[in-house]
Amino acid sequence: MPKKAIFLDRDGVVNKEVNYLFKKEDFEFIDGIFDACIYFQNLGYIIIIVTNQSGIARKYYSENDYQTVTKWMLRQFEDNGIEILNVFHCPHGPDSTCDCRKPKPGMFLTAKDKHNTDMEKSWLIGDNEIDVIAANEAGIDNTILVRSGHRIDESNSNARFILDSIQQAKQVITE
Ligand SMILES: [Zn+2]
Repeated sequence: MPKKAIFLDRDGVVNKEVNYLFKKEDFEFIDGIFDACIYFQNLGYIIIIVTNQSGIARKYYSENDYQTVTKWMLRQFEDNGIEILNVFHCPHGPDSTCDCRKPKPGMFLTAKDKHNTDMEKSWLIGDNEIDVIAANEAGIDNTILVRSGHRIDESNSNARFILDSIQQAKQVITE
């Protein structure tokens, strides 16, 4: 049976936005992230992260650096009782013609195929309009932008909800 999923952007949603973050020392979880994820799990959602990592194409850090910080991040989630089912990343730069870099929907569509997700019942939580565009393209209508990351142009957003941070998502994701 298809599963409902919470798709999270990483920088600005899971952790405080730092330009081209690649060291765990710079990785600071957003307040309430673990609590929110436990809540989503209890509602029966699987949790998937989809993140643009153009710092790899730009050679600011390596694929290996990225994998190291990802493993560390996943261990912190695990230690808090949370299973992140998968983390998809796009390593390409803005000039790439890849299908994965948001606002393209590639990472969402790959996740859908791999994990049999029900996009109609799934949610996207991002901090940038490109997250909303990519999710919409992939068939996800339930979108939230949070103010804990990039500055959002709220009057020009197609997000269904704009909230201060993921902590407040409990107020709009209720089933
Ligand atoms: Zn890509």
